[in-house]
Amino acid sequence: MKGLIDKLYGTSSLDRDEYIELINGHSEDDSKYLFSLAVKRREEHYGNKVYVRGLIEFTNYCKNDCFYCGIRRSNKAAERYRLTHEDIMICCEEGYKLGFRTFVLQGGEDPYFTDDKICAIVNDIKTHYPDCAVTLSIGEKEHKSYRAYFDAGADRYLLRHETASSEHYKKMHPSEMLHSHRIECLYDLKSIGYQVGCGFMVGSPYQTVENLADELIFLKGFMPHMVGIGPFISQHDTPFAHEKSGTLDQTLFMLGLIRLTLPKVLLPSTTALGTIHPLGREKGMLAGANVVMPNLSPVSVRKKYLLYDNKICTGDEAAECKNCLAMRMKSIGCEVVTDRGDSKVL
Ligand code: SAH
Repeated sequence: MKGLIDKLYGTSSLDRDEYIELINGHSEDDSKYLFSLAVKRREEHYGNKVYVRGLIEFTNYCKNDCFYCGIRRSNKAAERYRLTHEDIMICCEEGYKLGFRTFVLQGGEDPYFTDDKICAIVNDIKTHYPDCAVTLSIGEKEHKSYRAYFDAGADRYLLRHETASSEHYKKMHPSEMLHSHRIECLYDLKSIGYQVGCGFMVGSPYQTVENLADELIFLKGFMPHMVGIGPFISQHDTPFAHEKSGTLDQTLFMLGLIRLTLPKVLLPSTTALGTIHPLGREKGMLAGANVVMPNLSPVSVRKKYLLYDNKICTGDEAAECKNCLAMRMKSIGCEVVTDRGDSKVL
């Protein structure tokens, strides 16, 4: 397998069968080799710098019903909350003091937050913190809405496509949700001028090795600025409550492959990865990741944004999360920096 990994390192791409062979047949030694080259590649472009994003989970109301997600509309056990405009500004104020220069507003698809409300929030953040980037992660919208948020000052948009296969997508979503629309949204966001993040879950129900290879082919074609991946983790009040969760090894291997396939991409080591293993996020960095996204949401709502079970850091203040992550990164020779951390992908 080392030959294939060398080839990927040299050319930044493999064909589908080669990806399948690697994902299917790699040994522990192959993984180590992949990670060493992935870290080398990350260091060429980003050194030992780790970018931080302050994640503000501002609503867990959602009109969608994704089978895997704990805040799906049919989950009557979810305790719903919304942050106010002022709450969000307080999160940013605290985050700014802690050195965050990117704020990510993430939430369910909550009709309460009309375009006007979102634009007002984005505008307020950009007015108070002109040196910061604002990322939105609020799902599928129409062109007009994406345009309005961009004009209000939003810099980036994060919309995981969840899977590159429409058949696989159908097995994880109700029929009213269309894979084609989600993908159209991604292209739309890019054409408007956002720095765009897509992504998928590793080990989600019904996912095959072929699907994972297709993820890499999709990424190569789409050329996102950012790729968010993490293991699928079952949530006890969803239709997938009893499905197996994704593994640490598979997720790390995919991170390594993504780093070599898209050398300059921004690649977070996600909270889900930290949830399935106590050192998951450190291991993610050592597989090629270069971003972490500590939580800036008020502690009072943290335990309510439960997309999956056993989510970490739900009791910690923002400052604790930031310090803890800074220490964790230092322990592996990485340095958390105060920087907008824009993508080097053109
Ligand atoms: N509503 C927004 C934000 C979704 S939450 C949107 O549609 O983009 C962010 C991500 O969490 C999702 O895109 C999904 O990939 C991930 N997620 C949801 N449920 C999960 C689970 N059970 N395990 C792991 N990741 C999950």
